[in-house]
Amino acid sequence: MTTEMGKPLRQAQAEVGKCARAMRFYADRAAEFLADEPADAAAVGARRAYARYQPLGVVLAVMPWNFPLWQVVRFAAPALMAGNVGLLKHASNVPQTALYLGELFERAGFPAGCFQTLLISSGQVEQVLRDPRVAAATLTGSEPAGRSVASIAGDEVKKTVLELGGSDAFVVMPSADLDRAAQVGVTARVQNNGQSCIAAKRFIVHTDVFDEFSARFVTRMKELRMGDPADEVTDVGPLATEAGRDDVEELVADAVGRGATVLTGGVSPDRKGWYYPPTVVGDLTPGMKMYGEEVFGPVAGLYRASDVDDAIRIANDTGFGLGANAWTEDPNEADRFVDELAAGAVFVNGMVTSYPELPFGGIKRSGYGRELSAHGIREFCNVKSVWLG
Ligand code: NDP
Repeated sequence: MTTEMGKPLRQAQAEVGKCARAMRFYADRAAEFLADEPADAAAVGARRAYARYQPLGVVLAVMPWNFPLWQVVRFAAPALMAGNVGLLKHASNVPQTALYLGELFERAGFPAGCFQTLLISSGQVEQVLRDPRVAAATLTGSEPAGRSVASIAGDEVKKTVLELGGSDAFVVMPSADLDRAAQVGVTARVQNNGQSCIAAKRFIVHTDVFDEFSARFVTRMKELRMGDPADEVTDVGPLATEAGRDDVEELVADAVGRGATVLTGGVSPDRKGWYYPPTVVGDLTPGMKMYGEEVFGPVAGLYRASDVDDAIRIANDTGFGLGANAWTEDPNEADRFVDELAAGAVFVNGMVTSYPELPFGGIKRSGYGRELSAHGIREFCNVKSVWLG
C-alpha cells in the first residue's frame, strides 16, 4: 500500500490490523447473525415461521485505492461468511494489493475461486455486472463511479450497496475539551494523507471558542511531518495521484480567489511526488467550491457558528451524509447532535471511525446500504420468509 498509493507506513500497518480484527469479528459472530430469525407463528397461522438468511451468489466489488486492503475486507469478510463469492475490480493504481487479496482467502482455507481479482478497467465493469451469473454489486469510490454502477445494476434489477464520498462536519462547542478536539481533529483530517471518505473536512466552531480552537488546530497542523511514506516518522505522505493533487489545488485556489484565507499550507512543495501540505482555510462561504465539494487531501475548512442551531444548519448544508463529529460536554447539545445531524454516523467527543461492531454507511449523496456489523453481513443475503403449516 505504501509503495502503490503512498500510505504512511504506520497507517498501513494499522490497516492490516484492522482487517484482521474484522475477519475475527465475523469468524466469531457470523453464525449468530445468520441464524434463523423466529417469527410469531400463531399470528400468521403457521406451526413454525421464521426468516432465513441465504447468500445471493456472486457479488462484484468495485473498490478504491485509499484503503486498498480495508475497503475490500470490509465487504469480503462478511459477504463470504454469508456464503457469497466475490469478484474484485480494484482501483487501477493498486494492482499488487489486488493480487494479494486475490489469493488471501484461498490461503485461509476457502475453496478455490471463492474470491477472485479481475484486473480489468472501469470500462469493463458493465460487462461483468450485466453477466447473469453476477447477482449484486458493491462500490466504494466517487459519485460518478457509483452512479454508473448503480444505474447499470438498476437496469439489471440487481442489488447494490454504495459507499461514496463525504464532507464530514466536526463541530466544536464551548464546553468541549479544546485541546483534545484539536488533536483528534488534526488526525481526523489528515489520516491517509487526507484521502478518507470519513475524514473530518468541515470544522464548524462556536464563535465563543473559534479563535482559541483555530489557534490550537493550526499549530498542530503546522507540526505535522510531511515526507516519505516509507519513513516511520512521517505523518503525511504524498497524495495517491497527480489528478488528486490537481483537484485539491483547484479547490483551494477557487476558495482563495473568492476571498477565503489560508491559515497554513496552501502551496504544493517543489519536490518529487504529489505532495500537498497540511492546510487550513478560513472565511469559507457558500459560493466557493470547497463549501459543497469533498476535498480529498489534507485541507481543513473552518466555519464559524453563532450557536447550536447555526452549527447544525451549517453541518447539514451539504449534499453528503456520511459521518459527523460533535464535541461538547453538554448532554442536551449532544442529544441534539445525535438526533439532528444528517449522517450515517454521529460520534460525540471522538473521531468518526469504522468498527466491525457498528454499521457503516451513508445517506444522501454518500450512498446507501450498510457495511459491517449484523447489518453488513445481511446486505447480500436473500432474507427468505419460511412458513411451515
Ligand atoms: P473512482 O470512484 O474513480 O475509483 C473507485 C473505483 O471505481 C476504482 O476501482 C475505479 O476503477 C472504479 N470506477 C471508476 N469509474 C467507474 C465507472 N464508471 N464504472 C465502474 N467502475 C468505475 O475514484 P478516483 O480514484 O477517481 O477518486 C476520485 C474521487 O473519488 C476522490 O477525489 C474522492 O472524492 C472520491 N473517492 C472516494 C472514496 C471513498 O472512500 N468513498 C475512495 C476513492 C475516491 P479505475 O481505478 O480503474 O478507474
